Amino acid sequence: MFKGKNVRLVLLVAICIISLLGVVGCTKQETTTSKEAPKSKTIKIGVSMDDLRLERWQHDRDLFVQKAKELGAEVVVQSANGDDQTQFSQCENLISQGINVLVIIPHNGEAIAPIIEQAHKAGVKVLAYDRLITKSDVDYYISFDNIKVGELQAQAVIKEAPKGNYFLMGGSPTDNNAKMFRQGQMNILKPLIDKGDITVVGDQWAKDWLPEEALKIMENALTANNNKIDAVVASNDSTAGGAIQALSAQGLGGKVPISGQDAELAACQRIVEGKQTMTVYKPIKNLATSAADLAVKLAKGDSIKTDGVVNNGTKDVPAILLTPIAVDSKNIVETVIKDGYNKLEDIFKNVSKDKWPKG
Ligand code: BGC
Repeated sequence: MFKGKNVRLVLLVAICIISLLGVVGCTKQETTTSKEAPKSKTIKIGVSMDDLRLERWQHDRDLFVQKAKELGAEVVVQSANGDDQTQFSQCENLISQGINVLVIIPHNGEAIAPIIEQAHKAGVKVLAYDRLITKSDVDYYISFDNIKVGELQAQAVIKEAPKGNYFLMGGSPTDNNAKMFRQGQMNILKPLIDKGDITVVGDQWAKDWLPEEALKIMENALTANNNKIDAVVASNDSTAGGAIQALSAQGLGGKVPISGQDAELAACQRIVEGKQTMTVYKPIKNLATSAADLAVKLAKGDSIKTDGVVNNGTKDVPAILLTPIAVDSKNIVETVIKDGYNKLEDIFKNVSKDKWPKG
């Protein structure tokens, strides 16, 4: 009897222990699941773009989205069509959608700065893409070496026109890059100006990098100088396009060396047709894919390797700066075409087939 009672007691204790273990086990499982939940949640990246009208930014968008998706992230892209207020409210909207990281290509690097604080309050890290966000606590900056871009532009032009009257066609005054390009150009031009070989007859900035602005500026500069302009240092292809239109109208197309930047299809065509001296090719794929990788790492809290820092007026922003490449008619095949950025048949479309590169 006693024995039987004991057995029942042992059984009862065993059941209690098993069920207790079960509860603990369950709790443990739940804890693990709830702890892991945010990790398995899809990373959401917001991308706020200044403008999609310029060809290059469409490449940036497509390549960034493709890479971020490959890395398992969800991407929401908005473009502000060059309007500061629109860009600000689009950023606010993206933050309210519960993004983990905000990638910004600012129209105006200073005007957008207050969004950083709002993003940080919501636990969102901010990455400045291609253009710096000044006077702010922006988390990271990824771009090309923009001083180098300006140096490459001026170097190519002085090779063609070592002396004479120079016109400097700057980019958008609200874009920090435009200032950096100019800084790079001056690194090369200044010694020649000081020597008296080069005279800068005009120096202006094209609002929003618009070709029509550059056209007007160039027309006025030509008039003011009785067409005596020997070289133009233009900061990108869209402004070079406007300037070349004005030069061509005065019979100077192809006669005045002129720089550019972005390896836009129209500029590549002008280069092989002898209307533009050079462009600066910035392999956008490297920029966009590195940025997507960085954004995903930021969202995950992974460690990030940078090349150095760029001061934005408030802090030294950790930065990744990629290398730009000078492109002219001699190396266009092994750079822009080889990378598939623009196709040979498109670039040489207006050139007779016997002049197309062999092989
Ligand atoms: C970019 C250039 C571009 C320009 C106009 C700059 O910030 O670095 O590649 O041509 O903006 O969009």
